[in-house]
Amino acid sequence: MSYAVAAPALHTLTVAGRAERFPVNRIFCVGRNYAAHAREMGKDPDREPPFFFMKPAQATVDAAQAVAIPYPPKTTNFQHEIELVLAIGRGGADIDTANALDHVYGYAVGLDMTRRDLQLEARDKGRPWEFGKSFSTSAPIGAIRRAQDIGHPREAAITLTVNSQPRQSSDIAKLIWSVSDCVAYLSQYEALEPGDLIMTGTPEGVNAVVRGDVLRGAIASLGEITVTVAP
Ligand code: MN
Repeated sequence: MSYAVAAPALHTLTVAGRAERFPVNRIFCVGRNYAAHAREMGKDPDREPPFFFMKPAQATVDAAQAVAIPYPPKTTNFQHEIELVLAIGRGGADIDTANALDHVYGYAVGLDMTRRDLQLEARDKGRPWEFGKSFSTSAPIGAIRRAQDIGHPREAAITLTVNSQPRQSSDIAKLIWSVSDCVAYLSQYEALEPGDLIMTGTPEGVNAVVRGDVLRGAIASLGEITVTVAP
């Protein structure tokens, strides 16, 4: 096979304890999936159907080891969102909630890094969120733990510190739309494919970071990630 221009690189993530890597296809992200975070964003939490936005695969940063990400351009309000990430192993459309977990290969700790000023400007003008959400290196993600090794976590503390100070602290049991709900709902609109990731939304406590900050995110049973904002 020859290509007319240089072929884009495949983006991959570490799988804990395995040699093979997880190839990232698409990244779907759920908005406002914890009630307390919806409130801090000025929205009433409710059980309207979930909504999604996307990040490109090149947003992915393998954070299985401590990593640094650049402070992105065109923002003065670069914020952290700690999230449970699920990795799709088996594709499908119109997946039943009851079978949804069969499609999940594994789980990881991830950050949905956000240019909040650009996102809110877009939101308030009724424009797409891409410039706020979908930029390169906006999705550092730790090693994927396989469901066959750890099962399917339903309750687990999810936390983020910045320079060792607590910023976000909740439990994935508080997801408004569970992992199964997200897989089933999304698959009605778009056939899921192996390699897809779903970032399930962040709890309350989102806030800005500055150059040099050290972010430590953790989900009990999934380990920890350490991400530095490059000085
Ligand atoms: Mn998010």
